[in-house]
Amino acid sequence: MDVPLYLEPRLESRLASLLRARTFLHTLAGGLGSPLNVVLPDRIAENLAAFRTVYRRHHLSGGIYFAHKANRSSALVRRLAATDAAMDVASLGELQHALGCGFAPDRIMATGPKNPEFLWLAARCGTAVNIDGPGELDALAALVRGHGLPRVRILLRLSGFRAPGVRLLTRQSRFGTAEGDLDALLKSVERHTDAVELTGVGYHLDTTSPAEKAVALEGCVKALDTCRARGFTPRAVDIGGGFGTDYLADGAQWQRYTTELTNAALGTRPPMTWRRHTYGLRNENGTLRGALALYPAHRPTAGAPYLDALLSLPAPSLGRPLATLLLENLYELHTEPGRALVDQCGVTLARVLEVRRTEAPERTEAAGRTEATDRTDTADRTAPDHLLVRLDANADDIGLEEHGVLVDPVLVPRAARTDTGTGPVAVYLAGNLCLEADMITRRAVHLPAAPEPGDLLAFANTAGYCMDFSADEAQQQPVARKVAVWQEEAAETADGPGPEDARWHWCLDEQYWPHVTRRTKGPA
Ligand SMILES: *Cc1c(COP(=O)(O)O)cnc(C)c1O
Repeated sequence: MDVPLYLEPRLESRLASLLRARTFLHTLAGGLGSPLNVVLPDRIAENLAAFRTVYRRHHLSGGIYFAHKANRSSALVRRLAATDAAMDVASLGELQHALGCGFAPDRIMATGPKNPEFLWLAARCGTAVNIDGPGELDALAALVRGHGLPRVRILLRLSGFRAPGVRLLTRQSRFGTAEGDLDALLKSVERHTDAVELTGVGYHLDTTSPAEKAVALEGCVKALDTCRARGFTPRAVDIGGGFGTDYLADGAQWQRYTTELTNAALGTRPPMTWRRHTYGLRNENGTLRGALALYPAHRPTAGAPYLDALLSLPAPSLGRPLATLLLENLYELHTEPGRALVDQCGVTLARVLEVRRTEAPERTEAAGRTEATDRTDTADRTAPDHLLVRLDANADDIGLEEHGVLVDPVLVPRAARTDTGTGPVAVYLAGNLCLEADMITRRAVHLPAAPEPGDLLAFANTAGYCMDFSADEAQQQPVARKVAVWQEEAAETADGPGPEDARWHWCLDEQYWPHVTRRTKGPA
């Protein structure tokens, strides 16, 4: 094999310690099956605290609403209920779940597309409703009147912002009301003042670009001015989610990997993928076309630091930092982080069922036939170069590939290996469905040593969308069970192996309540 192209996961201390707990992980997967999702509720509280620190630094108040859709876990939501977080729910089921986990309605906001049942329960219990457009507003007002409910707090979701003199238009969205239609929407709000109370405006943009978000944030501040000029008294700007996660330990690995993917698409290096998958790139007569359809797995500024950077940007037309703009008006800032709040909060374990040799990827025509033949004769036949590793999990259980996140799994061997193994190998990870397309990775993953049947592969940082967003019972394969894990507090392990590797405890996700972590404390 050529030089291994690793994409090693970023593992902060808690997650790194968990992945070193080999016996613990094998006991869990042995008892509960493969695949298995493991969540770390204490970490979500730490991520929340990091967001709150950014608010404080900018002297801002407002709600940090966890976008529930990123993960279905009860443990994560219940752990957040014990903090000052709020919840962004986008379905009837998520609303019921948040209420049942301990969130009072005044800490919940209903967002996204809504059916009548979702809207009714939101109105009945008095959560805030993030209004998508005039139709939803009419439906909500009719429910409130029809059932004699108290006025419901609403925010208006806007989109299609443009800043005067700035040639940047925010991206199209199928959600929200165009900024230019605000006037008509406010006329509707005026008609419904008996049923709703306007408390803010906001956006959620599916982009990583801070410049686009700056245009939208300033647009919201101006929209609030418009609202106030019309006699409303809203105070909040809701800037949605999209703060992102850095999945990789080493940015240089990402640079090198994406460069090589580009070279492979151009045919100037051997293919790196299963059946010439190109992640959206095309070679048109020697010219590279298309764009890499991947999540930017290396994001040096992600999560709370991304919020900090955004708030420090100058407003595109008003010039002052965005945080200053909010502060001058005494506006509150609401955020709806999903992926960023569950950063480092979960791992998906999958058992290795079979390891077999497979063909090295075919050369593209452009790479030349002689070279391809050489390779087959030498490297390919002698070295355990390309392995097909079949896992007891399928692509929907892992979800990294589906969400365009390229990051290597961590090998958790069944037994401590005496020999140092095979050296680096390239493996394709195949799933447990009887389906050609069930590939957990469509790229050759480079691992420092070959896995063996019975080993576990740990996919780190899957709590954001990957571990359970699309998991289903295809072919009656079991959906992964989910467990919550936590460590004893450092002070109690003074005689033990040190706080980093303090003993791990676990329970089923649905059994977790915030008091359980305290149950492990011995008598004082
Ligand atoms: C998905 C979504 C979020 C969360 O997005 P992340 O990228 O996970 O932070 C927040 N708000 C709305 C309205 C969403 O649809």
